[in-house]
Amino acid sequence: MIQSIFKLPDEVINKIAAGEVVENPASLIKELIENSLDARALHIQIDIEEGGEKKILVEDDGIGMNREDALLSLERHATSKLKSIEDLETIQTLGFRGEALAAIGAVSYFKMTTSDGSIATSIEMEGGVVKKITPSARNRGTTIEVLSLFFNVPARKKFLKSARANTSLIIKTIETTALAHPEVVFTLTSNGEILFQTEKQSWEERAEAILGPLPFKVSFESVYGLLGSPSQAKPQRRNQYLFINQRPIFSPLIAKAVKAAYGTRLEEHSYPSFLLFLTLSGSDADINVHPQKKEVRFSNEKGIFSLFEKAAALSLGNEMKMASFDTPLAFSNSFEFHPEEKALPWEQPTEKPLTFTFQIDPRPLAILEKFCLFQTEQLILVNLESARARILFESFERHNPASFQILICPIELDVKEDDMVHKLETIGIECRWIQKHKLAVDSIPCWMSPEDFIVFFHHFQADASIPLSLLESCRKSVRSYTLEDAKALWSALDRCQEKNKDPEGRSIWIPIEAKHFKPLFI
Ligand code: ADP
Ligand code: MG
Repeated sequence: MIQSIFKLPDEVINKIAAGEVVENPASLIKELIENSLDARALHIQIDIEEGGEKKILVEDDGIGMNREDALLSLERHATSKLKSIEDLETIQTLGFRGEALAAIGAVSYFKMTTSDGSIATSIEMEGGVVKKITPSARNRGTTIEVLSLFFNVPARKKFLKSARANTSLIIKTIETTALAHPEVVFTLTSNGEILFQTEKQSWEERAEAILGPLPFKVSFESVYGLLGSPSQAKPQRRNQYLFINQRPIFSPLIAKAVKAAYGTRLEEHSYPSFLLFLTLSGSDADINVHPQKKEVRFSNEKGIFSLFEKAAALSLGNEMKMASFDTPLAFSNSFEFHPEEKALPWEQPTEKPLTFTFQIDPRPLAILEKFCLFQTEQLILVNLESARARILFESFERHNPASFQILICPIELDVKEDDMVHKLETIGIECRWIQKHKLAVDSIPCWMSPEDFIVFFHHFQADASIPLSLLESCRKSVRSYTLEDAKALWSALDRCQEKNKDPEGRSIWIPIEAKHFKPLFI
């Protein structure tokens, strides 16, 4: 076979490269807005038509370019951001490869109008060939218009997603970028309709506007951001945002470290929501691994893992305090009650046993010491300590890891019995010997504080039954309850198998009817 080797013409190279840099309209927009950000723009306007396939326009008020630079910028490997290989170590800009504009220009009808504040220039290209260069008029900044994307690469055009799918990818891309640049105002319109708009904000305001509330604030060494509560976790990693030096980065290592900090608060295939920012010096990471700069390689992986695990654990530990009241608040709409057959002290014995189903969500109305009055179709009084003892009892019975929390500071206990580790493990508690007769407990149920656990343990070690030890620890607990706690307790109780009785068989709640207290007004 005769083989001849020749250099590909630039036009072909650019088209091939376009596939890498410009996968779809969203990735193209990402490149363009990153260029605007690198040009220190404070306002970025993006307009699309038909999911970007027909038209993409990105306009900014950044530093712009003069005629000469504007022409150069369209050539492959033309960049103003990197001059030598050493610069790669300290690069601050989002772009540096000088590939995007050449690649986009190669696969579309492309028009750029740019001004550095003096003269404006307009350049038109078709499939990578410059057709027209004209002086123009505009304020400082750059406008790039991309029409008929992939018109000359039919194979690629065929694989473009629907306009709707591309539009939602574009929104996600702009939202992600906007999270890391709260000082910049972004506007996205599609076929003339506004789809996304921000004001100039603080990073916290921007995060809340885009992601909704994430309750746990992180601030530790070079890491800051927000974490979602365990109940906001998702079966996919969709709500995980990481930025290193303001660049969106995908890092399985960091995602794993954050998840580790949640410990048993999350089930195996449940992923916490987070927004985290890391500031790194160039030599600590190599962001150049992936052509789209999405992936990163760290020089000290272990250090990064423990930095994030610690930052997240501190945030969760500080704010969740000892016992997590942060269980999902999904109330079931039909909670079946089978209250006491036994008559209440003031109640006339009734013929039919009371059994009813609540049609409305029980609403906590008032706390009275360790009791809470709930409004359903009628009023019920719930003994919160008994409810908590029931929930804890079932955590011990079922060993569901989600109902346990990993302690940041293990509890140390003096123990006489040799088989105590085994005994505690059978009720789902993680513990280990640290000395002869000294045990460290690493996890306890979410609805318990370490102090509560110590009370429980003293009874348990003194051979009291688990139900009794639990009830004692709940009764002696110094915890004071809020309406929010009562609500969370109720929904945890709703997930218990037995919802009416505490572990020793006493009622957790009683119905309150006028006939019960009427006689007291005599
Ligand atoms: P890179 O961003 O990797 O340098 P690009 O092909 O995306 O490569 O851009 C090439 C060059 O064009 C940039 O280095 C920059 O100097 C200039 N440029 C691109 N977009 C803009 C813009 N919106 N405002 C000012 N200059 C820009
Ligand atoms: Mg760029």
